[in-house]
Amino acid sequence: MALKTGDEYIQSLKELDLKAHVMGQAAGGLTSHALVEPSMRAVAQTYDCAHDPQSKDLFRVISPLCNEEVNRFTHLHQSAQDLVNKVRMQRHCGNLTGCCFQRCVGMDAANAVYSSTFDIDAATGSAYHQRFKEYWAWVQKNDLVVDGAMTDPKGDRGKRPKDQTDPDMYLRIKERRQDGVIISGAKLHQTGMLNSHEILIMPTISLRPGEEPWAVCCAVPTTAPGVRYIYGRQTSDTRKLESCRLDVGNPKFGGQEVLTVFEDVLVPWERVFMAGETAFSGTLVERFASYHRQSYGGCKVGVGDLLIGAAALAAQMNGVAAASHIREKLVEMIHLNETLYSCGLACSAMGQPTASGNYLVDMLLANVCKLNVTRFPYELARLATDIGGGLLGTMPAAADLEDPVAGPYIRKYLKAADGVAVEDRFKVLRFIENLVAGAGSVAYLIESMHGAGPPTAQRIMIGRQGDLEGKMQKVKSLLDLA
Ligand code: SF4
Ligand code: FE
Repeated sequence: MALKTGDEYIQSLKELDLKAHVMGQAAGGLTSHALVEPSMRAVAQTYDCAHDPQSKDLFRVISPLCNEEVNRFTHLHQSAQDLVNKVRMQRHCGNLTGCCFQRCVGMDAANAVYSSTFDIDAATGSAYHQRFKEYWAWVQKNDLVVDGAMTDPKGDRGKRPKDQTDPDMYLRIKERRQDGVIISGAKLHQTGMLNSHEILIMPTISLRPGEEPWAVCCAVPTTAPGVRYIYGRQTSDTRKLESCRLDVGNPKFGGQEVLTVFEDVLVPWERVFMAGETAFSGTLVERFASYHRQSYGGCKVGVGDLLIGAAALAAQMNGVAAASHIREKLVEMIHLNETLYSCGLACSAMGQPTASGNYLVDMLLANVCKLNVTRFPYELARLATDIGGGLLGTMPAAADLEDPVAGPYIRKYLKAADGVAVEDRFKVLRFIENLVAGAGSVAYLIESMHGAGPPTAQRIMIGRQGDLEGKMQKVKSLLDLA
């Protein structure tokens, strides 16, 4: 099947006709819903890029799984270069959209499930890997968007899944049947869920013997009976409902996060890829997390490029582009952003094949990448706010620009350097506002902190992978210590 265009993808979503609770209403027609549509357009870019002559070589790749050309967003990485190309592709998408384009989570989940199912089969004689290969070849051939679903609600964080008052606090197998499993629970913070065709469910923590019901990995269609969606609010999101688009900041694109409920959903056995193998849950979680921590070294960098560009434009519009302190701040922003990219590329270049054959990032470097992502975008946002100036927080509504009384005052007093249209100045400052304090800050800042796990999760992995013993041993050898 030919790779879909963005329009064909949007048409496929229309045919799914998903429903969700959005701002207190049961909503349908989501593909044209003012709050949802910008996020769908961001995903559509991942399809259009596979047809754009400038980018299609990066976005297209031959998959040995189905022996066809596929969109790299569905690819199982076959080399370290594939991992590098993934990060380059994500930076490109960030450059085009200025937001989360949502399609990476399924790609990261698939790569983790592929190698983990191979390992389960090798150890237990199960047949999950072949099942997953057949499922994923179908995803590739149909060029689908898959939501990788990991984060459970977790209830009381001090208790294990089986000790929770409500066992649904971690998504679980409620019943095993001849025709499949019945799952019950929820997944939080689901990026791009309403723009997806499929959901690939994984456990959220490393599980122990006795916790078998929670060790579940499986795939369900987004249209499956019993699945419900509740849309997540974002700062200033209702600006998207206003007729004037200028105040939205990023008027074309946006991200999407959804609380997804699974109420006694039947999953046929051919879509079950782990059912009780607690010993492998930790491996699956670690691999997925590492791939997604690598991802941030691409997507956040792409958005960072735009924030740097907007800060430079704001300085130019204010007539201070040549000031040495502005140049220094812009250089600092570039340095921070390229450091993130370097980490994304480094963990990719050092990737190694798994036993199943696909490539896994260097997990230590991927965690270093993400730990930096929990900090540097905040510093980039601080510097952009500094350069943008106080008007970022006090700008009148764009509608007032057209008001016969207020408009002329705004044009007179909010004019900056000669030759700069006030509307253009508004656009740039609103764009910065969107990323540092508006709807875009959900992906650029909050997700940089918590997406793919909070900083403590990276510190734990860095502590485990950092080989402190080996480092001490090196000193002992060098200094001839006993
Ligand atoms: Fe992709 Fe980044 Fe969005 Fe995650 S946050 S889905 S890596 S764009
Ligand atoms: Fe994410």
